[in-house]
Amino acid sequence: MTGVAGIGMTSDRTRQRMVEMLRHEGITDERVLAAMLELPRHAFVEEGIASRAYEDTPLPIGHGQTISSPLIVASMTQLLLEKTPMAKVLEIGTGCGYQTAVLARLVKEVYTLERIAPLMDKARRHLRDLRFYNVRYKHADGHAGYAEGAPYDGILSAASASHVPPALKEQLAVGGRLVLPVGVGEQWLYVIDRTEKGFTEQKREAVRFVPLLPGLAQ
Ligand code: SAH
Repeated sequence: MTGVAGIGMTSDRTRQRMVEMLRHEGITDERVLAAMLELPRHAFVEEGIASRAYEDTPLPIGHGQTISSPLIVASMTQLLLEKTPMAKVLEIGTGCGYQTAVLARLVKEVYTLERIAPLMDKARRHLRDLRFYNVRYKHADGHAGYAEGAPYDGILSAASASHVPPALKEQLAVGGRLVLPVGVGEQWLYVIDRTEKGFTEQKREAVRFVPLLPGLAQ
């Protein structure tokens, strides 16, 4: 990682303040807080906006997409990790790879899908620079999930689906949890648990994500 390492705005103290903000906003899972304290979020965005990397805001990552705000990343990860043990997780919408890195820091194996090839390549570079070797990447449409790695203890989507994709429920292990935004226009965060008997569904807070688009980007 070169270029941005020396910028004051991206220092440990700035990251510490971000973590204090997360605590203040109700993030209590120490594993999530520790991972986010450690990971250089500024290294996942372009140098020109690196100084804003620790603000609680989404930022552009190119191709019309955004890196989710730190609070959203923290809350979704916390929701996922409430269900333990989480050994194998699928992420839909790799983007710049920051959420992927948070997951890779906390679970044994991460599978991740992205429909925009150059974003996937960028994420791969970021994670390689940080020496994460427990991530499998696939340039594919997340609606179909990632059958090769199924079943998953957890599935997390960073893009909002118009409906819950059936493949994602099918690829969930019994005892596993799916966290995803659902809705076009008005979006809600859903938490779907797979039990011995079927599925339970909780509708949580209103959220705002980019849409889960069909097919691969050209
Ligand atoms: N977690 C990412 C968030 C990126 S935004 C980060 O931290 O940067 C959501 C991502 O989902 C975008 O990169 C978008 O291209 C991707 N996406 C949208 N629809 C998709 C689909 N059907 N399959 C896979 N990825 C998709």
